[in-house]
Amino acid sequence: MPNAFTPQTSGDLNYLKSLNRSTILSTVRRSPGLSRADIALETGLTKATVGSVVQALVERGWLREGELHARGGGRPGRALYLDGDRHYMLGAEVGVKGLRLVACNLVGEILASCHREEPPTDPQTTAARLAGLLNRLRQAPAIVERHCLGLGVAVPGPVSPSAPILSLAPNLGWVDVDFLALLRAEPDLPDGLWLLDNEANAAAFGEFYFFEGVPPESIAYISAGSGIGCGVVSGEHFPVVPRGHQGLVGEIGHTVIQPGGALCHCGNRGCAETLVSGWALREALNVETDASLSAAVQARADEANVQALIQRAGEALGLLMLNLHHTLNPSMLILGGSLMRLKGRLIEPALAYFQAHQNDLLRQSQSVPIKIIEDSTFTAARGAAAQVMARAAIEV
Ligand SMILES: [Zn+2]
Repeated sequence: MPNAFTPQTSGDLNYLKSLNRSTILSTVRRSPGLSRADIALETGLTKATVGSVVQALVERGWLREGELHARGGGRPGRALYLDGDRHYMLGAEVGVKGLRLVACNLVGEILASCHREEPPTDPQTTAARLAGLLNRLRQAPAIVERHCLGLGVAVPGPVSPSAPILSLAPNLGWVDVDFLALLRAEPDLPDGLWLLDNEANAAAFGEFYFFEGVPPESIAYISAGSGIGCGVVSGEHFPVVPRGHQGLVGEIGHTVIQPGGALCHCGNRGCAETLVSGWALREALNVETDASLSAAVQARADEANVQALIQRAGEALGLLMLNLHHTLNPSMLILGGSLMRLKGRLIEPALAYFQAHQNDLLRQSQSVPIKIIEDSTFTAARGAAAQVMARAAIEV
């Protein structure tokens, strides 16, 4: 299955090796600085297994040894960390308004990046443009000597759960696009793992996988940009991204919140996107696609109708957050996407609505942690790179 981040049960010795390797890598990723003995204690693996797997991972440039630390009366052990110096993953986002690319290392640091604000045209031309930018990025001094693990591409629409095909990008007008095949036809791109996923899934994955410290049990990432989508990730050593029968999990922008309301790009009426999305706000305010929406809102901030429009969009966002809370109940909500540039005007009514209602059902005074990413330019691209690492970790 594409985009599965769990070792596949083939029932042979390779499966067991993959399971041990990826469990150890995940343990160090979530708790950097553990010694071999700590890892054995944490995972339940024998010290001998941990020793040989760690040795191989150090040799292959996945782990590095750090400081010596003594614990109790036993032999001192070397702290282990993911090695940020030898590999990199490429991540790219084909966004409705442009292309974003990163090269990042095993600890999630962005080593090189590129952002071209120019709306994609047709899939083939876009693949050629992306390939050119990727090849240029690979020449960056910070990565030119490193080994590339592969390429993850994030796209603005649902991806088929059974094959890496973009089923539909309603805001680009693309249908059933095998984008990786178009990319493969371009010269000079690196080998390795190639993955395709929905941009909100990729962003959610990156926020979960590269979470500083032990991540919450599950997170939902709401991507509020030209369109609005959501990705959900949960799990421990092996992150799980629910996709649904047709890859539609998280397509919250097309949940109907105003029956009979305005016409949506999907053809239905009253979808959430008709109230809170970059395209709907641009249409309502007559802002061209290549002009800045946040600058236009700022310039007209004194107009009562503009204030009402953004207030209503914020409340719709809060309503979507509440619906997620009551359907998927994630341990943490993360808000990202270009609409975050509208800042408090949009975010405050969203948070106010959510916080006023999040405990209505259980009548408990609990508060779901909410993180807001003000600049999520590279969040989805970095997440796509994280997916490559997670897949490579089960195949090294
Ligand atoms: Zn719709």
